[in-house]
Amino acid sequence: MTDAQSYIEVAVALPVNQTFTYSVPPFLSPFIAVGKRVLVPFGQRRLTGYIMGPAIEAEPSEIKHILDVLDQEPLFPSSMIPFFQWISDYYKHPIGDVIKNALPGGLTLYDYASLSITDRGKTALKNKTVTAIQESVLKLLETGPCRLKHLNDKLNLNLPGALIQTLQRNGWILKTRELRTASTKGRTERHIELGKPVAATDRLSKARRKIIDILGQQGEMSMSELKKQAPSATRLVRALEKDGYLTVRHKRVYRDPFGEPINADTAPDLNTEQQNVIAQVNDRLSQGFATFLLQGVTGSGKTEVYMQVAAGVLNQQKSVLVLVPEIALITQMERRFRARFGERIAVLHSGLSAGERFDQWSLILQGKAPIAIGARSAIFAPFAAVGLIIVDEEHDASYKQESNLRYNARDLAVVRAKQNNCIALLGSATPSIQSYHNAQTDKFIEVNLKQRIQQRSLPAIKIVDLRESMGYRGIRRFISAELHRSIKETLDRSEQVLLFINRRGFANFALCQSCGQAMRCKYCDISLTYHQKANALRCHYCGFSRAATISCDSCGSSEIKKIGMGTEKIEATVQSLFPEARVARMDRDTTTRKGSIFKLLKGLNDQSIDILVGTQMVAKGHDFPNITLVGIICADLSLSFPDFRAGERTFQLIAQVAGRAGRGASPGRVILQTYNPDHFSISTAQDQNFLSFYNQEIHFRKTLKYPPFSRMIHLKISGIDHQLTRDHAAALGELCLSLKTSKPSVYDTVDILGPIESSLAKIARRYRWQILLKGTHANALHQFISRLMADHPKVFNDRRVRVVVDVDPISLL
Ligand code: ADP
Ligand code: ZN
Ligand code: ZN
Repeated sequence: MTDAQSYIEVAVALPVNQTFTYSVPPFLSPFIAVGKRVLVPFGQRRLTGYIMGPAIEAEPSEIKHILDVLDQEPLFPSSMIPFFQWISDYYKHPIGDVIKNALPGGLTLYDYASLSITDRGKTALKNKTVTAIQESVLKLLETGPCRLKHLNDKLNLNLPGALIQTLQRNGWILKTRELRTASTKGRTERHIELGKPVAATDRLSKARRKIIDILGQQGEMSMSELKKQAPSATRLVRALEKDGYLTVRHKRVYRDPFGEPINADTAPDLNTEQQNVIAQVNDRLSQGFATFLLQGVTGSGKTEVYMQVAAGVLNQQKSVLVLVPEIALITQMERRFRARFGERIAVLHSGLSAGERFDQWSLILQGKAPIAIGARSAIFAPFAAVGLIIVDEEHDASYKQESNLRYNARDLAVVRAKQNNCIALLGSATPSIQSYHNAQTDKFIEVNLKQRIQQRSLPAIKIVDLRESMGYRGIRRFISAELHRSIKETLDRSEQVLLFINRRGFANFALCQSCGQAMRCKYCDISLTYHQKANALRCHYCGFSRAATISCDSCGSSEIKKIGMGTEKIEATVQSLFPEARVARMDRDTTTRKGSIFKLLKGLNDQSIDILVGTQMVAKGHDFPNITLVGIICADLSLSFPDFRAGERTFQLIAQVAGRAGRGASPGRVILQTYNPDHFSISTAQDQNFLSFYNQEIHFRKTLKYPPFSRMIHLKISGIDHQLTRDHAAALGELCLSLKTSKPSVYDTVDILGPIESSLAKIARRYRWQILLKGTHANALHQFISRLMADHPKVFNDRRVRVVVDVDPISLL
């Protein structure tokens, strides 16, 4: 930057919705760049900030100057700044904290100080205006930056700290903090090729000749493959290599989550539907921003469409961002992309260590990985320019972050695509009502895959009315005769079964037989769930756990009866019904350990599991060809949720779980047990008729002015003190009302619902209240909340009662 620009705009990670102007002392000027962190004085403190660009407005008299530049290289490209600003405005979140959220965590953990020489330092050195000891330090730094702690070793001296400080103060050296990247060494494998030809006169043993013959016939191969054909290959190859008959190279190998190496694949011949979709997207590629909604039934080959569209974009030297809802699916997507595109892939998700994540981040920053695959936070991948953003399973609620910066990555994908003037491609078998409505109103372009690959039929769904087994006790209440018979038939054919139940644990709750009270969590006022393995009652909201052998809190009776069912109970039941079968369970309780999901998926893959019982985790996108029966134990659990999206969730869940069946050559079937066979979410899911579901659901949304016919902002008010929290909620409610009445012409489209106590009235010791703002005009609604926050900062930043602003909430509990 030139002198004229020696004022910069800095965002600090504080709850303030503005950036600040700082001046740059000349010796730091050469190191200033957008995207680097700086150390700045702020009030009495020193804070880390992010350089946003040259100052918007400089008032030299009052301005403080920055103390240091903390990075050698920018952490994000300047083209992302408008994106951060948009997020800050829309989600009402301080800009500095938006950036902090976007960057890979744990940056400071890896900091270490590095010294480098400045231009001034070089001049000083040339002019010999330095002491002897200063000279030796500067001379060393002229050869390149050096870590502070290595300086003493290299100079074989014991440098006083004051010396470094003097050098810094003179502006001769710069102390930056660099990031140590935990170098994750990739696995490599030996690959063997033929070397010099064997001359007729060469005398080789039979064993050696065999090796050469194998390679001659089959071409280059890995040592492990070769060993399968010639067990003593290791020794022979070494000798042959020495004599020059063979060459050995170390190749990086990528393994899938099951530990198998990923072999390169070639694109299959596309079917007509796939060709049409790809042609439609490609037609728009050169025309700037557009959002496509790809509705393709489960198993219709959406991933193949993603890869082929991506290939076109990569050919134009642009980058591709792929969002996938969760880690197990990321690995599946990664595997398929690696098989097609090789090493040019970075992966971003919470399963990586801080160091690994930073490495992946750097790969993208340096332009070494034009493809990034990840969970919702990958929407922040630091590409300077994106050419395509893919969002797989776009309906999935896990794209919404439910803490701190509450963003929706699916929505941000569209925003980022618009800012980058490129394509967003959202795909799902069961699109969200929101996205489908956008397609109906021409905001998105709808494209379809209606057939499964190779015309495989969608599984037939048979509904079993649970009301008919209400009179039964025990097992037969939840494993109907029909389901029982089908499991048996499937096992007899050596095929696999998936049983889905949307609740963890063994029993729903424990009830006192003498006074009728349910055992509740001390902190959350939520009934506790019985877990048999641990013989404990657990709170599913805060994790509180107590021994199951308790007596009633209210009356002291020790006659506690456990009611209902969950994954653990179904697992135990099924195991007792089919003692020979190998039964496993996949839910949050069995997958807390790193790698445990993959172990379960591997079990399904190599068929060492016959029956898998699980929560919605099993519903998502996995592809296991030998699963031919899916049992939905009780479809009503999600239907009875107090949420306007309950019907949408239920439809999606059923269609998604059902989609796990019959993905291989043998047809699949689904048994759906429910107390509400006539509910339209269930009957339309039975026919997998999305359009029919949509048409009924959208009517209901319209009548009640729910999204997509309105937008919502959820104010969550919580505190430890019951009375204070309630008063705070009441006061905030009053402020909302008076703002609305102050400008009726602007705000008459904003409805204020509440304050009311939340349906989960207490979680982890905190009492919870809420106000729901609902507006048919997005602009008015956003103006409303911005005004409210600007006028009453104290109400939103109270020490004792927390107010969280959740824009476009997904969960209203
Ligand atoms: P979806 O993502 O829609 O559920 P996938 O992309 O996983 O479907 O495709 C299902 C299976 O069909 C995968 O095993 C995939 O490799 C295969 N497949 C996709 N397209 C083709 C094609 N054109 N020809 C043959 N097989 C295909
Ligand atoms: Zn009791
Ligand atoms: Zn609790």
